[in-house]
Amino acid sequence: MHILACVKQTPKSDNVKIDPVTGCLIRSGAESAMNPFDEYALEEAVVLKEQMGGSVSVITMGPPAAENVLRESIARGADKVYQLSDVAFAGSDTWSTSYALAKGAGKIDELEKIDVIICGKQTNDSDTGHIGPQISAWLNWPNAAFVKKVLAVSENSLTVERLTEAGTDVIELPFPCVISVVKEISNPRVRSIKGRMAAKRAEVVKWTAEDIAADKNKLGIKNCPTRVVKSFSPTRSTNAVVVEGANAREKAAKLVEMLKENKYI
Ligand SMILES: Cc1cc2nc3c(=O)[nH]c(=O)nc-3n(C[C@H](O)[C@H](O)[C@H](O)COP(=O)(O)OP(=O)(O)OC[C@H]3O[C@@H](n4cnc5c(N)ncnc54)[C@H](O)[C@@H]3O)c2cc1C
Repeated sequence: MHILACVKQTPKSDNVKIDPVTGCLIRSGAESAMNPFDEYALEEAVVLKEQMGGSVSVITMGPPAAENVLRESIARGADKVYQLSDVAFAGSDTWSTSYALAKGAGKIDELEKIDVIICGKQTNDSDTGHIGPQISAWLNWPNAAFVKKVLAVSENSLTVERLTEAGTDVIELPFPCVISVVKEISNPRVRSIKGRMAAKRAEVVKWTAEDIAADKNKLGIKNCPTRVVKSFSPTRSTNAVVVEGANAREKAAKLVEMLKENKYI
């Protein structure tokens, strides 16, 4: 079984600052690490390899320093690592990022057939949760998001339990497929000494936009469809109103009156 985990290098803190002019994240000076959800995605990939045999590849799209999360992935049990790095990718929105990752996955698939791509649920910097489902759309592979458990694996499919607003669903996805996972999926392991040594020696395969035959008109801040028109921190207001009343029914009735007066309902 060949599993591809997607990992992103993100700021260690979730106190991420945004450039008010460009609307982009200010990454310089911020300490980086593997996106927390991706630790769970990678761990599940390694668990599946241990159960079924095969190998785990890891891909990231990011600047040169993002190589660190790939070495970290080797230390945590990955076998091969790929970095998409090119000025053409800079400032990409989720549509462009997922396009590049799908092109990279396509090239990896040509080298060794991929059965499953595993993404984290979301990142701690941009936080959209778009990338997993978008990669599946670009590749036209089936997708399940919010996966909390892999129930069964066969030679041709994966059966998973995913969270929904109403509870959970059980679905079977034929290979090749894409899943995005929540924290309940696994318990990330501690890096072994052997793993850390392997991480130092590991070859990081680096690909540019040209290497993955990506259409440059679909990449980068100038070509992506999303525009950050304005970004700002909401101002805190302290004019909260406490609705008084003898009991819950009376308070609820007053609240309804207030909402009506202010034309909210
Ligand atoms: C107009 C615009 C401009 C932007 N400019 C910049 C910019 O200049 N610099 C910048 O860094 N960001 C920029 N971004 C943010 C960037 O688009 C997102 O960080 C990126 O597309 C991934 O989305 P996300 O972080 O919400 O991932 P999510 O969809 O929340 O992530 C889900 C999962 O997808 C996988 N994943 C996500 N991103 C990657 C990745 N890069 N490599 C591998 N796996 C990944 C991980 O498994 C992750 O857990 C910009 C966004 C917009 C809209």
